[in-house]
Parts: sequence; C-alpha cells; structure tokens
Amino acid sequence: MWRAQMATTLPTPPKIGMVSLGCPKALVDSERILTRLRSDGYGLSPDYDGADIVLVNTCGFLDSAREESLEAIGEAIAENGRVIVTGCMGHEAETIRARFPGVLAITGPHQYEAVVGAVHEAAPMAPSPYVDLVPEAGLKLTPRHYSYLKISEGCNHRCSFCIIPSIRGKLASRRPDAVLREAEKLVAAGTRELLVISQDTSAYGLDLKHARWPWKGGEARAHMTDLARELGRLRPEGEDLWVRLHYVYPYPHVDAVVPLMAEGLITPYLDIPFQHASPRILKAMRRPANEARVLDRIADWREICPDLTIRSTFIAGFPGETEEDFDYLLDWLDEAQLDRVGAFRFEPVEGAAANALPGAVPEELKEERYARLMEKCARISAARLRARIGSVRRVIIDVSDGEGGATGRSEADAPEIDGEVHLRDAPGLAPGDFVDVRIEDADEHDLFGVPVGPDNSLLPPS
Ligand code: SF4
Repeated sequence: MWRAQMATTLPTPPKIGMVSLGCPKALVDSERILTRLRSDGYGLSPDYDGADIVLVNTCGFLDSAREESLEAIGEAIAENGRVIVTGCMGHEAETIRARFPGVLAITGPHQYEAVVGAVHEAAPMAPSPYVDLVPEAGLKLTPRHYSYLKISEGCNHRCSFCIIPSIRGKLASRRPDAVLREAEKLVAAGTRELLVISQDTSAYGLDLKHARWPWKGGEARAHMTDLARELGRLRPEGEDLWVRLHYVYPYPHVDAVVPLMAEGLITPYLDIPFQHASPRILKAMRRPANEARVLDRIADWREICPDLTIRSTFIAGFPGETEEDFDYLLDWLDEAQLDRVGAFRFEPVEGAAANALPGAVPEELKEERYARLMEKCARISAARLRARIGSVRRVIIDVSDGEGGATGRSEADAPEIDGEVHLRDAPGLAPGDFVDVRIEDADEHDLFGVPVGPDNSLLPPS
C-alpha cells in the first residue's frame, strides 16, 4: 500500500509570479488575486524564471505611474514572456496591446473573477484525483450522462404573474468562455446531453452587449445563437452530444438557431413557455416577445427543421380570462400542434402584480379549463407520438434493467419533463449509450421500440 502511494506522481501545479505596482489598494487586490489562485492550487514564484505566468498589476493614476506600468510589462515579457496584465491600466487595453501584442490577457481593476479566469485559461491546473476534493466537472446531482448548464441568472422582464425578477434580480449573463469551459469539462467527464437553462435563454448576453471573448484561438460572442453553435462544436469526434435549449422566448433572433438544429449541430428541440395565446391575456401577462405571427413562425421553423420538437407551458384561469380567450387558446393549440405541453392553474403568488387584476376566475372554472387544456394537449401529443411509429429514432439510455430492457429518451424528450422510450431486446446497454431504435408503439406520453443496426435491421442477441 505504502509503495503504491509512493509510486503515484502528483502533478506539479503551475506557478504564478506577481509584479504589483501602485497604491495600497492595488496591493490588496494583488493579495486577493494570489489568495484565490493559491486556494485553487496554484504555486507562487518569487522570480521570473520559476513562473509559468507573470501577473502585472498595474497603476495608471499619473502619467509617470502609467509609464512605470508599461516598463514593468515590458520587463516581464522580456524575462518570462507569458504575461497577464490587470489593474488600473486594464482600461487602456489598446495601448498595452499596441506596445506588447504578446500579452496573454488584459483585465481591469477589481475584476478578480476575470483575472483568475485568465490564469486558468493560460495555465490550466492538471486535474488530480488524489488531491482534488471536487472532480473537474464539479459535483453533480444529475446522472453522469446529462448536465444542466446555467448560462445566466435573473430576468429583465416583468411578467405580471411572476416574482422571479424581484427575487433574482436583473439579467446577469455568464461570460461565454466561462460557460464553454464548464461545458467542455462536463463533456470530458462523460456528459452527452447539455441542457441549457436560465430564466430567459434567448436574452443571453444582452447585458454584456453581446461582446466577444477569446475562445480556442478565435472568439465566442455572448449571444444565444453563437453560444449554441459553440456548444454543438464540443461534440467529441465520432460520438454524440445533444445540446437542448430550454426557456427560449420567440424573439425574432430565435429563427437563427433553427438552421443549427437542421444541420444537426444542436438538438431539434425548443422549450418555449408561451403561457397563453390570446393577445389580450398575453398583454395582461406582460409576456416578452408577444407577437401575433408566432403560428407562422412555428410553421417556418418546421419547414426548415421537420424534426423540431416544441415543448411549452400554459396557464389556465389567468385573471380576466374569458371563455372567448380560452377558446382562442384551444384553437391556437389545434393549429400549433405542440409536441409536449405542461399546464398550470393560475396561482396568485404573493407579490405578483397579476393578483390585482380584475376578473379573478373562480376556482371551479379554473379547474374545468385546466382539465380541458390538459385533455386537448394530451390528444395532440398522443397523435404526434403515434405518427412516429415505424420510424427510427436516436435514443440516449437513462436506465438499463440488466435483463434486456432499457429506458431512454429521444431527441424530443428532455429528462424529467417529457416522455421516455422503453426498449425491449436491448441487452448490454448502459446509461449514456446512444442507440438507434425502431419505434413499434406509442401511448399518450411514451414510445416503445427495439434497437436496430446501421441498416435498420434488428440487432442479433448478444
Ligand atoms: S416568467 Fe417572465 S418575469 Fe418571470 S422569469 Fe420568466 S420571463 Fe422573467
């Protein structure tokens, strides 16, 4: 045992050198940055020679201080070559880049996350299962093969039935390179399905003014379409990777992700919480991207990507909802033919503006409308599932019973909220495996099928 432990070579962590210029406030910043890097496992180097990266924390208070900062950057480049600049002169990135084009990254004052992120990018820590308390991809509560990927927090809308913006604040998007780095680690750790979540996925990057960040020798823009494309490109050679978009509002730019689905770069699935269809109720709900042409756009999306699955949620019994509004919703659903629908009865959440609206719908009527809504959606969903009988679908396995049976999901099914595909004669499959399945039967929620080979023939028993 002792010998085995001695034989284990722990990776040497990269070492960071720091040149700290300027006032005591800048010094405290340097201390914070180093504290954070040390707790991330980085070593420290007292000289240029031993450093894998040199951080230069600059001062730009006076012209003389700026010149001193530029000289310090020049010296660090000459002595070491791998330099990240932070601090007050981070505001003058163009000046620095013009003089020292080889600088690895430039961040401004008090941008601890950004400078620490730049160090991780330029000198990544080698993972070590012997010392890391947390696996590289972080701790997960989901199975290894699928992971939720949160791209932003908060919301800029003020839907009248919702109090999330008052709890979680305004939209705050994560940097695209940080999201992509997390996704890359998840994929390396075995994730084969990324579930992109937020309060409003289609608004991603608006608060960052859709800026671009360096990513893999190019750039990644803080924008839903670009992020979706880059996530799709993380697919490991010769393997499957599903990228599923949740909580998308039908803004015009959503049209641009549908071709990515048709190309097979991301999963042909849109989770769009429409909540209602009647223009009057949508207005009272203050829903974002509430426009009349949605049905036409759904038809256009299906034209571009015939395999597109649309999931949504609707509220029955919103204050002021008349029988006419509700019938409008049912007719709209007949036309929209959504694949998966969840329904809720309106609930007056404490603090929601909708509670003050006139025309509260009596509980009994709310219940009756909810039942009618569910029945309508179940009928549409069952018909759409029946239409898949006889087709071959790619399925990701969630559970194998070890006796030849397995349960998985098609591209049309997100975990927990949509249906499942139940497989017979499917021995030897493990969670996270992908298999082509010929669909033999369907009920209101689920599909039933059998694995097939590349030529769609039944697989021989293993
Ligand atoms: S329901 Fe409306 S306000 Fe609430 S999180 Fe969603 S978009 Fe934002």
